Formats: sequence, structure tokens, C-alpha cells
Amino acid sequence: MREDVQNAVNHVDQHRLWQRHVEMAKIGAIPGSGVNRAAFSKEDIEARKLLISWARARNFTVAMDAIGNLFVRRAGTDAHAAPVMAGSHMDSQPRGGRFDGIYGVLAALEALEAIEEAGATTRHPIELVAWSNEEGGRFAPCTMGSAVYTGAKALSDFLAVKDNEGIALGDALAETLAATPATGKRERNAPAAAYVEAHIEQGPLLEQEGKTIGVVTGIQGLRWFNVEVFGESAHAGTTPVGARKDALRDAIAAINALHELTRDASDTVRFTVGRMLVTPNSPNSVAGHVLFSVDVRHPDLATVARLGDAVEPAVRNAAKHCSVKVTPTLHDDPCAFDPAVADCIERAARALELPHRRMASGASHDAMYMSRVCPTGMIFVPCESGISHNEAENAKPEDLAAGARVLTAALLELANR
Ligand SMILES: [Zn+2]
Repeated sequence: MREDVQNAVNHVDQHRLWQRHVEMAKIGAIPGSGVNRAAFSKEDIEARKLLISWARARNFTVAMDAIGNLFVRRAGTDAHAAPVMAGSHMDSQPRGGRFDGIYGVLAALEALEAIEEAGATTRHPIELVAWSNEEGGRFAPCTMGSAVYTGAKALSDFLAVKDNEGIALGDALAETLAATPATGKRERNAPAAAYVEAHIEQGPLLEQEGKTIGVVTGIQGLRWFNVEVFGESAHAGTTPVGARKDALRDAIAAINALHELTRDASDTVRFTVGRMLVTPNSPNSVAGHVLFSVDVRHPDLATVARLGDAVEPAVRNAAKHCSVKVTPTLHDDPCAFDPAVADCIERAARALELPHRRMASGASHDAMYMSRVCPTGMIFVPCESGISHNEAENAKPEDLAAGARVLTAALLELANR
């Protein structure tokens, strides 16, 4: 590792990074060590103010765009060079944890602090970004800030979206923009030289294998379906079993067939039926109608396509007594990150002698949209038992700091290309 990079990495302060997680976790704290910080809520505004106060203390430039994405910039030596960006999100699930999202923001701030303290110069500016409304828990859909920033979606598509209390996103956003202390304006879709997002893994692999760093190669693809099985409701005591059109029995047969279809010795395919609605849902009635959800994921484009296409035939074949309807509800192709950014992250992990492995992300992230507009990568750190989207989410201070060190080294390399 180059001496100036090592010097900056040495300035990453585990205690400061941990304390900032503790401070942020007080905003929207809920019982069980969790956090409820919905997008564009008063807690979100408070978190933004705290982040801005830390940025201002270092004289970093703070800016915001029209959807409230927040940018903290340390200047580079080339005034025309696009920024190398790093960040994640500050909003949480309604019963979220203290690390999902906020870690990537605070790790980026720690990298900026360390680089500043080391007095390192970079050709490109380095810019922290805190994306608006990544979780989508209050205003659907998720990853809204990065979708709008990269031009994948238009801001106007979302202004009328309402939360459960009938508040329009446009109003909550306007309130957030007005409450955030005077910041510069930032154009949407401004060019970026690269983007690196640090995040807790939200799965168990790193912990199980004793690895500190996940070098993320991409985000797996997914396909969602709603399956409906149409039977005939009947009396459980009087209707002979052989004469029934039992929608639940056929739904179970269909789900078992889908488990067979997605059986995978390497345990890479993710197959989930997480939702089932049974009608009339009565102990002494044969089910007349069943709706269940299907979620299939895999990192490989051809595999996602093959499995997704096989869902409907498998369900039809398995449902012996009823008719079925299969409706696709979501289709995201896998996204592959830039191999050069993954190499850069891996080099940093190796130089810092941190145990690491390459892996695909099981969850979606803002990095998915950024990967469409610039070279992108992600750094995963372990979280306890892989638990996330849960108050019990936990991570170790030393792992968080290790990820911030890798991020610092990677940003310095990318910002001097
Ligand atoms: Zn997240």
C-alpha cells in the first residue's frame, strides 16, 4: 500500500465511527436497540442536521438536490474532475436497526475525515452521499433517491405518493428541504467518476466464514409473482375428498413443486413463499381460493430467467384439481458491478491483511442504480447472525472500522486515477 494511502487509513478512528453510530441511533430510537427513521420524517431531518454539523466542522461543502439527496464534498485538485462518491442511506425500516444504511454514510464521513487529517490530496473530489428514501417503508418504492439522481425515474413520478397517514411525498420532501440548514444546490444526474457503498451484509456468510470484508461483485436478480389458485369452497364434513376442488391442497402441491424446481446443491438460489391468503380461511370449509407470493433470486441472469419462466408451468402442472393464474409483479435483472472497482476494494482488503471474500449482494441497494451511470462497487462487513431489518441488528466496532479503512484506501485510489 502506498505510504500516503496507509497514512490516511491510519487516521480512521474506530471510536469516533462507533460514537457516531451511537449518536445517530438516538434519533428515532425504539425499544430493543432499534431505530425508526422514516424518509422525510422529523427524525430524518434531525439525522440530516447532525450529519451536516459534522461536515461543517471540517469545512466540507454541503449540497442537496431536488429529492433531498445530501452531498458532502472534499475538494480535489482538478476543478473539472467528477467526484468519486461513497455513501448509503439514513432512513430505516419502521422497526429497523442501527447499522443498515447509516453505516455506509458514516463510513464515508470517516474516510473523508481520515483523508483530511492525513492531508492527502486527490485529483477528483471525494463526495459523501446520503440517498433519500432508500427503504421505501413510508413512501414506496424503495431506492427512490438514487433512481431519481441517476435519471432512471423522474421526481414528478413520486410527488403524489402518499404515506399511511395520507401525507404526500411532495409535502414531506418540501418540509425536509426547508428544514435542512442552508446548503448548496446540486444538479441531478451530475457525472460521477465512481461510487462505492459500504453496508452491513444483512446475511450470515461473512460471520460464518470468519471474514471481515465482503467484496461485492453485483446484486442478484429477482422475479416476483402472485399465484392464485381457484377451487370451490365446500363443507368439510359432507363433501367427499375425491369430489373436492381444494385450492389450499393444490397451492401446497404447487409450492412443493416450486421447491423442487429451485432445489440447488450450492444453495445459491433464493426461493420464498412469504405470503398466503386463504379464502374463506375457516377450519371446516374447503378452501375456495388461495393467493400466494413467489420470490425467486439468483446472481446469474440466465438462471433468474430460466427459473422465473418455469414458475407458471410448474404451478399449472402441480395443481391437479383447480385452475390457476400466475401474475408477474416484479422483475429486476442481476446487476454486475465494475470488476475494476471490485479489484480495487480487494487490493485494499489484502494490503490491510483483512480476511475477505467475493460475494453477490442478496438485497437491493442504491448501488444498483449508480452502477448504471459510473463504475460502482460495494464493501460488506459482517452483522451479528446476519440479522437485519430488525431491532436486534448488530455489528462490531472493529468490523465497521475495518470496512471504513478499506473504503478510505479504495476512495484514494479511485480519486487519483
Ligand atoms: Zn440499506
